[in-house]
Amino acid sequence: MSAQSLDRVSINNLRGVGPQLSLKLNKLGLHSVQDLLFHLPLRYIDRTKITPIGGIQPQTEVVIEGEVRASDIVFGRRRSLVCRLQDNTGTTTLRFFHFNRAQQERLTVGARLRCFGEARRGVSGVEFYHPEYQYLDANQPRQLEETLTPIYPATEGITQSRIRDLCAQALTKLDNHPIAELLPSFPDGGLNHQLAYSLIDALLLLHNPPPGTALNLLAAGEHPAQQRLAAEELIAHNLSLLRLRQKIQQQGAPILREDQTAKSAFLKQLNFQLTDAQIRVADEINVDIDSTVPMLRLVQGDVGSGKTVVAALAALQAIANGKQVALMAPTEILADQHRQNFEQWFKPLNIGVTWLTGKIKGKARALKLSAIADGTAQMVIGTHALFQDTVEFNDLGLSIIDEQHRFGVHQRLALRQKGFVPNSTAETNGSAPHQLIMTATPIPRTLAMSAYADLDCSVIDELPPGRKPVDTLVLSNLRRNDVIERVRASCVNGRQAYWVCTLIEESDVLEAQAAEVTASELQLLLPDLSIGLIHGRLKPREKIEIMEAFKQGDINLLVATTVIEVGVDVPNASLMIIENSERLGLSQLHQLRGRVGRGTEASHCVLLYSPPLSGNGNARLKIMRETTDGFKIAEKDLELRGPGEVLGTRQTGNMHLHIADLQRDAHMLPDIKVVAEKLLLNYPKNVDPLIRRWLGRKEQYAQA
Ligand code: ADP
Ligand code: MG
Repeated sequence: MSAQSLDRVSINNLRGVGPQLSLKLNKLGLHSVQDLLFHLPLRYIDRTKITPIGGIQPQTEVVIEGEVRASDIVFGRRRSLVCRLQDNTGTTTLRFFHFNRAQQERLTVGARLRCFGEARRGVSGVEFYHPEYQYLDANQPRQLEETLTPIYPATEGITQSRIRDLCAQALTKLDNHPIAELLPSFPDGGLNHQLAYSLIDALLLLHNPPPGTALNLLAAGEHPAQQRLAAEELIAHNLSLLRLRQKIQQQGAPILREDQTAKSAFLKQLNFQLTDAQIRVADEINVDIDSTVPMLRLVQGDVGSGKTVVAALAALQAIANGKQVALMAPTEILADQHRQNFEQWFKPLNIGVTWLTGKIKGKARALKLSAIADGTAQMVIGTHALFQDTVEFNDLGLSIIDEQHRFGVHQRLALRQKGFVPNSTAETNGSAPHQLIMTATPIPRTLAMSAYADLDCSVIDELPPGRKPVDTLVLSNLRRNDVIERVRASCVNGRQAYWVCTLIEESDVLEAQAAEVTASELQLLLPDLSIGLIHGRLKPREKIEIMEAFKQGDINLLVATTVIEVGVDVPNASLMIIENSERLGLSQLHQLRGRVGRGTEASHCVLLYSPPLSGNGNARLKIMRETTDGFKIAEKDLELRGPGEVLGTRQTGNMHLHIADLQRDAHMLPDIKVVAEKLLLNYPKNVDPLIRRWLGRKEQYAQA
């Protein structure tokens, strides 16, 4: 009889686990004995040795032994019991604010104690507040711990000693029950260093590190045993995305052949030539969609690199093959801008553009839905309303998601799950639409590898010719009047400007109020200018009208909140003022600044800050002044703020990493990708168990 694998053995089989404790453990995500094995300590304390009192470093947790030389109740701001403890190297103070009579009576001069606690610098030198303590008896020597003591993540009602006992029990089960080693070693390189430890050795060490284990490595998460598990976790995440990709690509997709006539007609009516980078990426897409395997491609391109027209080419190809296309943008402003572009490009080619947002209701909506369902709507553009259950396509060949970073991984995956795919009748024939995803937030390569392992990646790494890099100035608020004068001069000369108001709190209401105040203040100071105001509290229709007026030049200065951050394209605007710029992240500043520098005029961006500027704030604004390269900025952002901020919390939040840390472990990501691909190819049986082990119940995150 083969022993049951530990992920099938319930924690209820452990000694001392009754229904109540079981519930509490479940709350911590602990269901099986294996879950406990992967429930790793947050940190460790060293109770394996006694530190001489004379050698205590403040801010360390130590075991000390000594004799009580004085014990007094001290009446100060708070009454406390203060003992002096001495060994042959020095003296220290133990301070108790809570104590009972019995304690007080036993902690008397001459008592010998062993204490454990954190040393702090206090009024009398090094002190311990409420140390744990035991009485020493010369006849009964007390044992020291043999391993470092783990401190586990716990929850109310579960003590450390309880959870230590459970983990110790779980470890003993390893003797009779297997826990599968799912990572073979790959002799030809890839994670050799991380895979030096076996899974079991890594778990044993992390639950019971022997004395002498480098606590500093453990604290930093850089111990080889931790790195072994981090690598496995990252591989599991990577595999879940690769698996997802595999599932999608097992479905068929419509072959979309290039239609030269349509393509040249389209290109002829553009008033510009495609850049080499645009042509290259369009070709990459072309190869993908002229195939029965669904395309899964991410197009990254810095702001203003011209992603839209590349998407339009792909759309055109789908429509020329008799298929429908859906394009989704994260905001109504952006969706509307796309509608205008596509109408302008597609009308001469007799291709209709249908527009659908959540705000379109009633009869108008019904009409649109039926045109989408019967296939007369060829090019459908909208917000996420496009992904609602009621929207059914007749024959969707291509779905395009713009500015995907605004949606987050989870939403992106959800779109596939219940979005276009099931609602497309094409799918019932075993066919899925091709997918094109665009993002203007450049993502450092290593991060992209892990967050977008399911996607092929194209980069438009060139801006259209004639663009002058935006000249960036960093100015203190004290210079606000000079800046206002600059806005006046620029607008009087026929240019247009943005003035962006920001707040720390993400509150639409407060942000809108701040923008209103700024707009009226600027109107007083600049009476000759036409000043518009746009913020998140306006109705979508109103926002679109204001953007339209700005585009037409009827508004000289547009006061805005960060709603204009993404995608907005008004080439005549050449001056951007950002207030409180020190509060924004680099990628957001980069996005905002990308609203100017879109025409042929030289553009300027003024980053206003309220002094004093923190070191980090200063570093960020300096980078903005030094470069306009989105990829460089993203790398810096990663360095300064970490992956959560760079990818957006929604994106990393969805990764639920337990042990790995995308920033700390970034160096292994290229190898992770290689190893994950090898596993999928050569060890397919290990894939699902790995995903289950690390993503467990959260795996809906990555189900096709
Ligand atoms: P993004 O990549 O930020 O989405 P857009 O697609 O909005 O950029 O393009 C920015 C602007 O550049 C638009 O006005 C677009 O018409 C224009 N554009 C795109 N490609 C070219 C090109 N090859 N030459 C000149 N202008 C271009
Ligand atoms: Mg865009």
